[in-house]
Amino acid sequence: MPGADGRVAGAVAPVIAVLSPPGILPDCATCRGQGYLIVKAGEQARAQRCSCVPMMCPACDNVGWVPNDPANPRSPRRPCDCRSLSARMARFDDAKIPGRHAKTLGGWVATSPEQVATRMHLDGLVQEWTPNGENRGVVFHGPVGRGKTHLLCGLLRELVFSRGVTARFVEFSHLLADLKQGFSSGEGSGALITELAEVDVLGIDELGKGHGTDFEGTVIDEIISRRYNAERTILATTNFPPGDAIGVKVGNLMLDERHQPRLADRVGDRVYSRLVETCAFVLVTGEDHRRKNEKQGRTA
Ligand SMILES: [Zn+2]
Ligand SMILES: [Zn+2]
Repeated sequence: MPGADGRVAGAVAPVIAVLSPPGILPDCATCRGQGYLIVKAGEQARAQRCSCVPMMCPACDNVGWVPNDPANPRSPRRPCDCRSLSARMARFDDAKIPGRHAKTLGGWVATSPEQVATRMHLDGLVQEWTPNGENRGVVFHGPVGRGKTHLLCGLLRELVFSRGVTARFVEFSHLLADLKQGFSSGEGSGALITELAEVDVLGIDELGKGHGTDFEGTVIDEIISRRYNAERTILATTNFPPGDAIGVKVGNLMLDERHQPRLADRVGDRVYSRLVETCAFVLVTGEDHRRKNEKQGRTA
């Protein structure tokens, strides 16, 4: 939930501030020099221009272009950072990140050496991001409540604002529902699948969740195959452990942990091997955030 100032709880300054929109206050208490805030609009998180950003851009007078060399007004022109800020805010909105997950990487507090290593890995991924390059993805796995979705959304947000990527968040079961609705309304699923296949970075939450139907298998296979062929980055979270398929599609409480399905059982060998090839698998451990919050709620 956003606070009185419109911020989503847990929001802190991003790791890298590549953009410096002209005229903003670097020490603005509201946006911390970023020029934007993240607010909740309905279920979704949206970017909002901070009031410290001047209506008239002092660098380009709202024309949108500035000389490449500020000392030489006749030098070739480049887009002004004010324009990039607007574009990135629009891209953040297009990513459709849920309001309750619109957190920053910095808001995920690393408390163990493994978590510090995870954080460094993600910061490195943002810093080394190359437009049109072969950028590796991440599959966050591990028990529920450890902040996998937080990391996924924080990474999407960071990539949008510091690297200007186009991004899209989908929760796997919601995606399936949307596709089914598209079929039943006669609109089909082509436009949505194409959007998910072509965005720079796709973040899939709860990969492998569902009923394991042929329909689900076909959907995930098409999205991952198209992204794999185009060398586009995939981010995902899953509650299922990595490892080769063991032939168990559905968890059975009567069986021990060794007989619980692996991610490969849920998404199929082909999708799994493509994820292994293009993504780092990051185990997210630590205290259960949801239980911790409940505990704090009880003692407050
Ligand atoms: Zn501000
Ligand atoms: Zn400008």
